[in-house]
Amino acid sequence: MDRATRMSEAVRIDPKTGRKLFATRAAKATDKIAGKGYSIVEDEALKTLPPPPRGAVFNAEEQAKYRKFKEARAGAAHYIRLEGEFATYLEDVYSGTPVPRDALDDDCEVLVIGAGFGALLLWYRLMKAGFTDVRFCEKGGDVGGTWYWNRYPGIACDVESYSYLPLLEEMGHVPSMKFASGFEILEYCQSMAERFGFYDHCLFHTTVEATVWDDAAKRWTVKTDRGDAMRARFVVLANGILTTPRLAKIDGMETFRGKAFHTSRWNYNVDLEGKRVGIIGTGATAVQVVPEIAKVVKALYVFQRTPSSIDVRDQRATTEEEYATWPHERDWAVKRRERLALISAGRTALQGNDDFLSGKVEAYKQQKVYERELTPKEMIDAQLNSNFRVMEQIRARVDSVVTSPKTAAALKPYYPYGCKRPTFHDEFLPTFNLPHVHLVDTAPTGVKLINERGIVHDGVEYPLDVLIYATGFEWMGTGSFNMIQGRGGRTLREKWETEGTKTFLGMHSAGFPNLFIMNGPQGGGGQFNFTRVAEMHAHYIVWALQTVRARGATTIDVTGEAEDEYAQHCAEMDVLSAPLRDCLSYYNGDGTAKPGSLAYYGGGQRWHDRREAAQKSMSPYRIE
Ligand SMILES: Cc1cc2nc3c(=O)[nH]c(=O)nc-3n(C[C@H](O)[C@H](O)[C@H](O)COP(=O)(O)OP(=O)(O)OC[C@H]3O[C@@H](n4cnc5c(N)ncnc54)[C@H](O)[C@@H]3O)c2cc1C
Repeated sequence: MDRATRMSEAVRIDPKTGRKLFATRAAKATDKIAGKGYSIVEDEALKTLPPPPRGAVFNAEEQAKYRKFKEARAGAAHYIRLEGEFATYLEDVYSGTPVPRDALDDDCEVLVIGAGFGALLLWYRLMKAGFTDVRFCEKGGDVGGTWYWNRYPGIACDVESYSYLPLLEEMGHVPSMKFASGFEILEYCQSMAERFGFYDHCLFHTTVEATVWDDAAKRWTVKTDRGDAMRARFVVLANGILTTPRLAKIDGMETFRGKAFHTSRWNYNVDLEGKRVGIIGTGATAVQVVPEIAKVVKALYVFQRTPSSIDVRDQRATTEEEYATWPHERDWAVKRRERLALISAGRTALQGNDDFLSGKVEAYKQQKVYERELTPKEMIDAQLNSNFRVMEQIRARVDSVVTSPKTAAALKPYYPYGCKRPTFHDEFLPTFNLPHVHLVDTAPTGVKLINERGIVHDGVEYPLDVLIYATGFEWMGTGSFNMIQGRGGRTLREKWETEGTKTFLGMHSAGFPNLFIMNGPQGGGGQFNFTRVAEMHAHYIVWALQTVRARGATTIDVTGEAEDEYAQHCAEMDVLSAPLRDCLSYYNGDGTAKPGSLAYYGGGQRWHDRREAAQKSMSPYRIE
């Protein structure tokens, strides 16, 4: 087929509406991209925590231990952006060549950046509400977002998939495992896109580079790396919270002669079988990767600066009874997801108590009754004590599983549970008992030197064939916010750098009319389950668009006072719960983030109360 014919196939006109429809989904790069997530582990000892130490408290001695652990690592985190010679680490290794098409210079009502769950959910809600002049721009070659980019061996979701995967009733789907693999989740995203006609509306392999507000036309102009200059009445940033990979800054990293890649661009053309492999990082990704690749490599060196808390996973398959009954129960997944959202204790929510979630029992645990109402300080102290006991169990688990005392000591985390991203695995710790798997403890500084042969640490050279960076992502990264120019030519980044992060509900920022942020900083509504957050945000955006339309208006913005007050509230909520998050973590910008500038710590219900109050009074909005 010649190039001109393929170009015209990528963009066609819908005879019913006269609008453009797209066919830009790229082909899968190779069939080697396949895998599974958590395995089912039968050994009870591996899927049970040792008993809690009764009466143990987070006393001065233990607090000093945590403090020392944190202070030793202060300032050690240095990350670089994947630019220049490192830009190759960002290449899309999952799709074939981009589908050719002409640049677009036209109008649409809503333009959405991203094609992850946020965008998919938004499309479903917009479509149901009758907004169909909607266009999506996505950097990758297919839908899925997080689940498109992350296809490393062992990938799985950590929120139970019956509550994480959205619209299960509409899709008539029941996930195969309690914690579905990333590969299954990606397929689910693709099925959603097919079922709801998303593909017709999405421009893949299209990166938005500039989004500029035109106050005269009351529209955004959106420019992309494909030469497009599209105008949109509304723009939605559904471009993710953990999207921009980051690399640790290490001397000599560009000199390494073996193969190297970041976990979010897993190179399936590199066969790990029989190779000497090094992996830098022991966060949530590495915890899932290590047990899988240990099964094939010749030697595995795991370079750790800070250990993760490795909790029990207890993976299970969906039962025949569940397959048979759930689809016949009205709103089975909606109800389950709402029950999950009632659990404010992070660990309990992420473990997902089946009896409570399926409605068999009323409460997820016995509520503790205190003789009198506790002061906020007493409440935090009580939480710190119970948190400490859980961490003692986590640490005891390391000792009970890992046979080498030296390795076990290095794998024990000393910080409050949930301060760093909690992880779950029943095979990670036993992996370190294998003779070919080696933990290289690089605490507190992390890896500092790479040469052409491998990693050098403490004067020892570790020769490697393959080096894998499991160094994570920018959290709530504002990477894409630097190209959004609002009223008066000011960028969102300039505004937040000079005034601090300021939004209303995490969804609007004053001076940036008709712009909505999904799953961004200060955005609440769903706690640990990000697809629930996205769903709440999608409902909210539909409401906002309907409100503008019903009033015959063209723009919606928020007042400076409303966002000042909200930013203040976010900071207060952050400070209130800060003792429970006293460590260095990407959640707090490795200790540098200003209170209230990243995640919302007010809890799901408080965000909803604020949203409802705003929608009732309408005082925060400027609709013109
Ligand atoms: C490995 C991993 C595991 C996770 N597990 C869980 C879990 O168990 N439970 C949970 O609740 N959350 C989990 N998360 C968080 C996860 O990101 C969210 O659950 C959810 O998938 C976010 O969806 P999203 O659509 O908001 O963003 P994303 O899925 O990140 O999608 C954003 C999309 O925007 C695109 N994009 C960004 N910038 C541009 C641009 N300028 N132009 C065009 N396109 C752009 C990106 O390519 C990306 O595809 C996990 C994240 C990671 C990385």
